[in-house]
Amino acid sequence: MSLEQIPLNFVDGSSWACVREIVGFDEQSVNGTGILSAIRLLDRLLVNAPGTTVGPGYAVNLTSADRDRLLTAIYIQIYGSRVESTVNCENCKKPFDIDFSLEQLLDSFNSGEVSAIQIEKKQGGLFKLPNGCCFRLPKGEDECAVLGMTPEDAEKELLKRCVLKGDPTGEKESLQDIMQELAPLVDLNMDAHCPECNEHQLIHFDIQHFLLSSLKQEQRQLAYEVHRLAGAYGWSLNEILELPRSIRRTYVNLVESELGL
Ligand SMILES: [Zn+2]
Repeated sequence: MSLEQIPLNFVDGSSWACVREIVGFDEQSVNGTGILSAIRLLDRLLVNAPGTTVGPGYAVNLTSADRDRLLTAIYIQIYGSRVESTVNCENCKKPFDIDFSLEQLLDSFNSGEVSAIQIEKKQGGLFKLPNGCCFRLPKGEDECAVLGMTPEDAEKELLKRCVLKGDPTGEKESLQDIMQELAPLVDLNMDAHCPECNEHQLIHFDIQHFLLSSLKQEQRQLAYEVHRLAGAYGWSLNEILELPRSIRRTYVNLVESELGL
C-alpha cells in the first residue's frame, strides 16, 4: 500500500508525518464533518515510521494547522489538487463555479513577515511576541475542550489555554491573526467573482469540512462498488473494504468495461 510522507512545516520545518492510502473501511467510517471525525480519520490513516513526529492515536496532539495540512494532503491524494465547486451568488442568487488549486493555496501561505519569534521547537513550538508575551499554537485537544461553547467563550478559553505568559493585547495585530500567519489553517475566506452580475464576494472554504463531506457523499458509491466487485469476483465484504481506494476503483472500471458500461 502506498505511503505518503507529508512535511509538517508549521511546527518547526523539519518534522513530518506519514499517511497510508485510504481504504473502504476508512471511507465508511466517516460519519460527520466536525473535528472529532477529522481526528478519527487521521488516527486511522497515520502510519508509524522511523522519524515521524506523530503516529496513529495521537492526531489530537497535532496543531490545528498541521492537522489541516494533513487533511489537505489526503484530499490531494484522493481527488487531486484542483477544487471545483458551485456556489450561489450572494447578490443575484445564481449559481457559479469556483475552481482553484490546493497546492497553490498552500504555497501562498509561505510568505510575509511575522512579528512573533519561535523560542522552542518541541511539541508544536513556543513563540514570543515583541512585548514578551509567550504563547503556543492551538492543538486538536484545545479545540475539543471548547466544543459546545459559544464562539465567544470558545475563543476566550482557547486564548487562556494557549497564552502561557504575558498579555497578547496591545500588539499591532490580534493574536489570532499572528497565529494564522505563523501556522495557517486551510479554513479561510476567498475572494470570488460572480460572472453573472460581476459582484465580488467572499467564499468560505474549510478543508476539513470539504474533505469529510466529499467522503460522506460517496458512501453510496462505495456500496455500489462493493456490490459490483462482490458480484464479479466473489470477494467478501471485508476483502473489498480492505482494498486501497485506487485499486478498488481500477477493478470496478475493469468490471464495468467488460459489461460495456
Ligand atoms: Zn451574481
